[in-house]
Amino acid sequence: MSDCKKKTAHNIAEIKKALGSSDGRTVGLVPTMGALHRGHLSLIERAARDCDTVVVSIYVNPTQFGPTEDLEGYPRQLDKDIEMASGAGADIIFAPADDELYPAPVFTEIKINELVGLLCGKKRPEHFSGVATIVVKLVNIIKPDIIYFGEKDWQQFVIVKKVFKDLNVDTLVVGMPIVRDADGLALSSRNRYLSQKQRRSAKALPAALELAHDMIKNGERRKDKIISAAKEVIAAEPSLELEYFSICHPENLVEVETIKGEMLLAAAVDAGGARLIDNKVIKI
Ligand code: AMP
Repeated sequence: MSDCKKKTAHNIAEIKKALGSSDGRTVGLVPTMGALHRGHLSLIERAARDCDTVVVSIYVNPTQFGPTEDLEGYPRQLDKDIEMASGAGADIIFAPADDELYPAPVFTEIKINELVGLLCGKKRPEHFSGVATIVVKLVNIIKPDIIYFGEKDWQQFVIVKKVFKDLNVDTLVVGMPIVRDADGLALSSRNRYLSQKQRRSAKALPAALELAHDMIKNGERRKDKIISAAKEVIAAEPSLELEYFSICHPENLVEVETIKGEMLLAAAVDAGGARLIDNKVIKI
C-alpha cells in the first residue's frame, strides 16, 4: 500500500487525526475534484515546495453543479488520483463522502453579491456560491496556511480571494499558471469527454485568445474588431459553440471600454456538451 493510501482520510475525524497538532509546521491545501492531470500536479508540487504538510482534497462538490450539469458523469478515479497526488508530493488525501460534508439538513451557504453574474456566472448562476461554500468549509476543517488554485479558473481564483478578504479568512491564496497540452489546450478533467474530432477542434479556444492577444500586441485598439476576429476562430469549428468571449478587468471582471493596462481575455465554449474555459491575463 502506498504511503498516501495509508494517509487517505475519508471523514473529518480522520483528517484531523492525520493532521495532528501543527506544531508550527505549515500546511498547504490543494482543493480538487479529482480526475487529476498535470495541471493539478503543478499545484501539488508547488505546495510541496512551500509547505511542510500538503493536503489534497478530492471531492466532487455537488453544490457547485447546476441541475442540468455533469455531476453524475463527472470522472471519478480515486485510487489513481491517490497515486498521482502522492507522487507529486501530497502527504494526506482528504476524500470525504457527501454526507460527511453536507449532513442534512443544511441551512447555510455563502452568498456573493458581485462578480458571480459575469463570465461563467451568466450560465452558472449558483456555481460560485457552491465553490465558495466548499472552499471555506475545507479551510475550516484543514486550517491551511496556504491554499492553491489554478489560474485556468480565473473567476474562481478572484472570487475566492475576495470571499477570504470579506470573511477575514486568514489563509494565503496562491494562483498557479495554466498548464496546457502541446497544442495549447488547457488541461481539464472535462477534456476526456471530447471525441477525437472535438479534441482537435478545441485548440481553437486557446488560438482565439492568442489571436486577440497578438492583435493587441500589434497595436489594434478596436475592441469590436478584436472580439469579432477571435469569435471567427471559434466559429470556424462547427463542433464548438461559443458561450462568451470577454475582454475585462482582471480583478473586477467588468468589460473594458478601452484596450489598455491590465486585462483579462477570457472565453468559454461548449464542445458537444463539454464546457471548456480558458483565459489569458495581458498587459500593455
Ligand atoms: P478541479 O479539479 O477542476 O476543480 O481543479 C482543481 C484545481 O486545479 C483548481 O484550482 C483548478 O484551477 C486547477 N487546475 C485545473 N486545470 C488546471 C490547469 N490546466 N492548469 C493549472 N491549474 C489547473
